[in-house]
Amino acid sequence: MVKVPLYIGGEMCQSTTSEWIDVVNPANQEVLAQVPCATDAEVDAAFKSAQETFKTWKDVPVSERARIMMKYAQLLKDHHDELATIICHELGKTFEDAKGDVWRGIEVVEQAANAPSMMMGETVENVARKIDTYSYMQPLGVCAGITPFNFPAMIPLWMFPMAIVCGNTFILKPSEQDPLTPMRLVELFEEAGAPKGVLQVIHGTKPQVDRILDEPSVRAISFVGSCGVGEYIYSRGTANLKRVQACVGAKNHMVIMPDAQKDRTISNLVGASVGAAGQRCMGISVAVFVGQSKDWVSELEAQFKTVRPGVWNDADAAYGPQTTPQAKQRILNLIASGKEQGATCLIDGSDCTVEGFENGNWVGPTLFTDVTTEMDLYKEEIFGPVLACMFVDTLEEAIELINNSPYGNGTSLFTASGAAARKFQHEIEVGQVGINVPIPVPLPFFSFTGWKGSFYGDQHTYGKQGVRFYTETKTITARWFEDDIATGPNMSINLR
Ligand code: NAD
Repeated sequence: MVKVPLYIGGEMCQSTTSEWIDVVNPANQEVLAQVPCATDAEVDAAFKSAQETFKTWKDVPVSERARIMMKYAQLLKDHHDELATIICHELGKTFEDAKGDVWRGIEVVEQAANAPSMMMGETVENVARKIDTYSYMQPLGVCAGITPFNFPAMIPLWMFPMAIVCGNTFILKPSEQDPLTPMRLVELFEEAGAPKGVLQVIHGTKPQVDRILDEPSVRAISFVGSCGVGEYIYSRGTANLKRVQACVGAKNHMVIMPDAQKDRTISNLVGASVGAAGQRCMGISVAVFVGQSKDWVSELEAQFKTVRPGVWNDADAAYGPQTTPQAKQRILNLIASGKEQGATCLIDGSDCTVEGFENGNWVGPTLFTDVTTEMDLYKEEIFGPVLACMFVDTLEEAIELINNSPYGNGTSLFTASGAAARKFQHEIEVGQVGINVPIPVPLPFFSFTGWKGSFYGDQHTYGKQGVRFYTETKTITARWFEDDIATGPNMSINLR
């Protein structure tokens, strides 16, 4: 049995714990490996190594740190298919989808290589006579990241490259469900020239996360995962006076205007709602049809019927299995609740199997209409291939519906009207908006800007905000005397 190592002080090491969690292929329940719950001593060793390494790493010139990121991005590209295949096995994504997971992480590493310009401070000459003020962005120290199961390459890569290129050291606690991908990312990081000790990986669940939340040397924590856990991590981390950014759950709406291009709208909607088995925080789970666009539901239903899940190397499979039997059961319960609470189930994917992989956690595409805001189907994050259709008369009503949602991760509008698009993007209370783009995840020169109940914190992930999150600004006011004339005590706070 493969035992997933910890990574402490630049060494892959076997845990001495007696607690191990199975890493399971969700397409057939094969146990691929076991991941340890790190002991207290191992977690302490990771903290110690991160603190020690910070003392020297912070003084490595930023251009040298950036060069490691350039090499790392290239290595990730060289190993793109290999990384995607690991994701396929431990998470069940289709090969193309897994490649997308890796690619969107590579883009963040490329952006991390721009650290020298992103870390530029500000200067003003002559703020007072012969006095200049300038600022630097300096690293914080030890930072940490806690990642979810659904993007085992992209989300760790949102975090440690940005933190480390800024001069911090980093402790990663990956999802216990799919740790094999992050461990391969770490091996390649070392191959790219990252010195020993800049990155540590500890595995585990709540007890290991609690150690991070309470550890005085950890200055900033980046979390991505569910709302409940994110709220807990944000509350406990900030109560311990740490910086915390928590990207959490979502319920994303796509608004369809009657003037939209019908075929493109429907095909985008199908992919955005059931793609990746619905396990995307920016996927669409509610379609809001405005006016006569409601007549398009029959076409949507027809397209849903052409889509089916399957195993990663089945070229005709639209998406893979759900991550665990428990996640599948949760989705089936929400589908059942939708029917009980009066929604119309046009297509029910509850009873779905894939030939030869009958043990997989399959859920077929599921389509509901007549959904109301009181239903659990609408209120809960389903995180499965289930789309709820709602009908409104006007764009104003669609905007009001979305603004009343507690979530604010992503939304999109499909229309041919610039005026409608302008109104929507201005009035909508959601942090990431697509205009005829179904899943508007920003590229990393911007930041990932979820709002409302989808994000707790201040500075967002990656981009300029990511650099601010992982740095502290030091402002220097300087004067150089040109003479040596006694002036008596200076009792003023004013610069002169
Ligand atoms: P999760 O919250 O169950 O787990 C995330 C991480 O937290 C894992 O590393 C896990 O080990 C740890 N964890 C779990 N329970 C904990 C606890 N009680 N205390 C401390 N740590 C704990 O999330 P998940 O199921 O892995 O991922 C899916 C969720 O992530 C969805 O809600 C999805 O919307 C969200 N997500 C959000 C974004 C975003 O950018 N907003 C991106 C991806 C995923």
